[in-house]
Amino acid sequence: MDTAGDNRGRITVIGIGPGAESMMTLQALRALDQADVIVGYSVYLDLLGERFRGKEMLSTPMKQEAERCRMCFEEAAKGKNVAMVCSGDAGIYGMASLMFEIGEGYAGGAEIEILPGITAASSGAAVLGAPLNHDFCVISLSDLLTPWELIEKRLRAAAAGDFAIAIYNPSSKKRHDYLKKACDILMEIVEAERVCGYVRSIGRDGEEYRTCSLAELRDAEVDMFTTVFIGNSQSRISGGRMITPRGYVI
Ligand code: SAH
Repeated sequence: MDTAGDNRGRITVIGIGPGAESMMTLQALRALDQADVIVGYSVYLDLLGERFRGKEMLSTPMKQEAERCRMCFEEAAKGKNVAMVCSGDAGIYGMASLMFEIGEGYAGGAEIEILPGITAASSGAAVLGAPLNHDFCVISLSDLLTPWELIEKRLRAAAAGDFAIAIYNPSSKKRHDYLKKACDILMEIVEAERVCGYVRSIGRDGEEYRTCSLAELRDAEVDMFTTVFIGNSQSRISGGRMITPRGYVI
């Protein structure tokens, strides 16, 4: 509810899905249509395409996430309805929590609404087949905000729990060997033949996927636009696609 008596705009944090407009929710599209200003990392603003070209757009370079959130509060204080866009889901390695945290520093803040989007684990799984169709977990290999020791601990715990795993941020310019390191850790517990797959540029031009073994994944070339899937002990290839059965007797 709007705070009575002030003309602050609202902030809507929007997960725009993997890229294609058809993979955005209607709710997200409506919120963008209604926004006075759209804030986001420039790559995501570009992904929005022609439909929102006429809108005021504000951006900051990568790694200036806090600044981007502050921008939203400043614009909302002017009475504008602000849409902040994130790829996938804003609450999964996105800006949703940071927006709340930054809001704590603004007296009166602004009304914040979070609109979910299709996260890369879901959209990438659909490309591969059904690799996450049982208990699974999501682990990011980015150690920018998380100590690498904790990432290792979570990888080992996921392997010990026989979870299927979706890996985000498998690589970057500075972290080109992180997937290799992660596979080595998993192979302490998981067999080298474990079914894996990866999808690049989900929902965008050049989308491609591959299935492989864990040992092959170790040496795969992946980039920051790739999401990686590690099967559980029951995962297998069916007709060229990666599946993790739920266990139905057929
Ligand atoms: N909030 C996003 C995740 C951001 S973290 C979401 O919910 O999807 C960035 C990582 O997400 C990338 O390194 C990659 O692993 C994954 N990712 C996001 N969009 C992707 C896409 N279109 N194709 C492949 N991977 C993607």
